[in-house]
Amino acid sequence: PSIDRFVGFDLGTSGARLSIIETTSTQVIEEIYSKAILWKDYGSYDDAESWLDAVESLLKDASEVLEGGLDSVKRICVSGTSASCLVVDRSSQKVIRRPRMYDYDILSSTSSDENNLYAEQALQCIEKHVPPRHTARARTGSLAKLLSWAYESPWKQSEALCHQSDYISMKLMENSLPVKSDWHNCLKLGYDVRNKSWPTWMEACLLDAGIHNALDKDVGAIPMQVVSPGEPLGKISKSMAQRLGLPDDTILVGGTTDSNAAFFAAAGVRPSLGTAVTSLGSTTAIKLLSQQYVEDANRGVYSHCYPSFDSETGEKGDLWLVGGASNVGCAILRKLGFGNEELATLSEQIDPEVDSPFQYYPLVKNGERFPNADSGKKPVLDPVPESRQEYLHGLLQSMSMVEMEGFQVLQELGAPLPQVIFSCGGGSNNPTWTQLRRRILARGLGIPDVRMEQASNTEASYGAALLAAAMEL
Ligand code: ADP
Repeated sequence: PSIDRFVGFDLGTSGARLSIIETTSTQVIEEIYSKAILWKDYGSYDDAESWLDAVESLLKDASEVLEGGLDSVKRICVSGTSASCLVVDRSSQKVIRRPRMYDYDILSSTSSDENNLYAEQALQCIEKHVPPRHTARARTGSLAKLLSWAYESPWKQSEALCHQSDYISMKLMENSLPVKSDWHNCLKLGYDVRNKSWPTWMEACLLDAGIHNALDKDVGAIPMQVVSPGEPLGKISKSMAQRLGLPDDTILVGGTTDSNAAFFAAAGVRPSLGTAVTSLGSTTAIKLLSQQYVEDANRGVYSHCYPSFDSETGEKGDLWLVGGASNVGCAILRKLGFGNEELATLSEQIDPEVDSPFQYYPLVKNGERFPNADSGKKPVLDPVPESRQEYLHGLLQSMSMVEMEGFQVLQELGAPLPQVIFSCGGGSNNPTWTQLRRRILARGLGIPDVRMEQASNTEASYGAALLAAAMEL
């Protein structure tokens, strides 16, 4: 059988990574290449030129190292950080307003009074038009960024908003028509992922900020073609193909966001319902494949639409990647002075079958998003037992309780219980903790048979490469 190659990019928080996988017509064979660069050695995480340079340089390295170069590349998928966006001129594709990244809060204490005034106007506009508890109401969301830009200086007809991943795909295709994007990147801009359209409030909302061409089919201020992640967007331009050493018929497909890409990496392309991925990094995030759409901004729960890989599934109804992210996480272990080695040795001495008497809420600072959004939530890190091992036991157990309550909330809202949980992030390397989690999840959720798996690959770039291939498998 013929062997094809698929490319995934992840433009992340600390760097950019490229993964290339090989497939036959029916299955993924393997990741054959992966390489990363770090922004600290290489431009800047919030500079669109740096992103393009990184993409070019990663492709160049791959073409030099790989046998056959990039000749059999079929499709490319780009994952970017969620809600990172910028404004380009539609005809020249030049950057007009510099990127505002995932963590950019329009109303920030470090901004000038003048900018905060514009931010206030943007928030009032959101208040007036966007339904209560909608994901697009966030101060770090792409809608807030777009509106504050428009209040800062008048919006021009020639301007178009695009996300980090849209931008890369657009530059590779060199098309100047309306910006193309995907369901995942557009969620925080307000895209109605259930109806697959921009909501009715969008036009009036943008108009209030002086954006007149909001939803114009040809010159829309926001992406006018929004496809499933993995669905073809268009062909690479001839000149870009030549410059990057890619085939002329390479296709760019709808992109995704970092944490969704990490889900695909960990769980594979076609996981069964009830497959979950828990990320135990500095913070904790859970994602679960569900037949039911769930949303509750008060509890930090939202749903991404699972990509539709074949035309039939669209008819049968969408699937959802539901979940939330808690501020509780391993960052607290570092803050309390537990080094990685100490974590490993102390954990070995903990009996995961025994309950710790200590109940904490292991936050680094005030504020929680999920399982219950509460900006005033305080860390609970007392009492501190004399034994470090006992302290760690209590902390790990308390974090496991947050994970368990997270799944509980998802279930209350209509999602299924997890059947298999893949783990990723620093905390997933701790077998004692995995056993402890298994017991707490099984007991708390009433799922004695839950399977715990360590994900073999959790790189978002690998997930993006799988998405690039998914529709061809
Ligand atoms: P980030 O979210 O910052 O990318 P990582 O996924 O790299 O985080 O995970 C780093 C975290 O993992 C650190 O906070 C560290 O305390 C934690 N960690 C490392 N080893 C262990 C271990 N054996 N048990 C529990 N936590 C661990």
